[in-house]
Amino acid sequence: MVVRNLFRAVIMGPPGSGKGTVSSRITESFGLQHLSSGDVLRAHIKAKSELGLLMKSCIDQGQLVPDDVISRLILASLRDMGQSSWLLDGFPRTVVQAESLDSVFTVDTVINLDVPFETIKERLTSRWVHLSSGRVYNIDFNPPRIPGLDDVTGEPLTQRDDDTPVTVSRRLKAYENQTQPVLEYYRSKGVLATFSGTETNKIWPHVLTFLTKKIPQSQQARGGGGA
Ligand code: AMP
Repeated sequence: MVVRNLFRAVIMGPPGSGKGTVSSRITESFGLQHLSSGDVLRAHIKAKSELGLLMKSCIDQGQLVPDDVISRLILASLRDMGQSSWLLDGFPRTVVQAESLDSVFTVDTVINLDVPFETIKERLTSRWVHLSSGRVYNIDFNPPRIPGLDDVTGEPLTQRDDDTPVTVSRRLKAYENQTQPVLEYYRSKGVLATFSGTETNKIWPHVLTFLTKKIPQSQQARGGGGA
């Protein structure tokens, strides 16, 4: 039997699910390299590469960039990372992308964060801003003294387009439609691990226990722990 001391994982979760927090805890605990497809694309845009300029309008409009482009970019980055263990974030987003990843690398586990849409909506729609000053309030942990009004000027607060209930619902629905087939794909391969809950701090211990069992001991030692 070939002993492969590498661990390759994908993390999936809707916007507002705590994916960023869980990703950084995983990479810190287990010493995995983190590769985010959004970061790779944004780096291209920042560098004003030909591809970055080409992709900018797609990204600005929140549309997916073509499968062949993103697959080529991500697979090249993964090859550059050589013999290392990694956590892939934001890719794959379609079955075509998942298949292209599969054709080159073995994915050991797909961590799926399953947070009820109602919880995410509450989280994302609780942010209100005072437009002219940029002051930000959060109804849950930093509410204005008078509901709906800025503390300093008394002027009405508004919500950013991205944070309104209608936009958030639309984003979540789009995520669900997009990723459902990818989740099914990984479920059928037997590598999907779903973690459900409403709070990141309650989900995290389950992810930690799961990965501690999964990740080879030698990898955990290199990553400085994970207990
Ligand atoms: P993110 O930071 O993951 O939300 O990605 C930002 C934007 O980059 C997305 O809205 C898409 O336009 C693009 N993008 C990132 N990952 C992918 C992917 N796997 N497939 C297609 N487009 C992507």
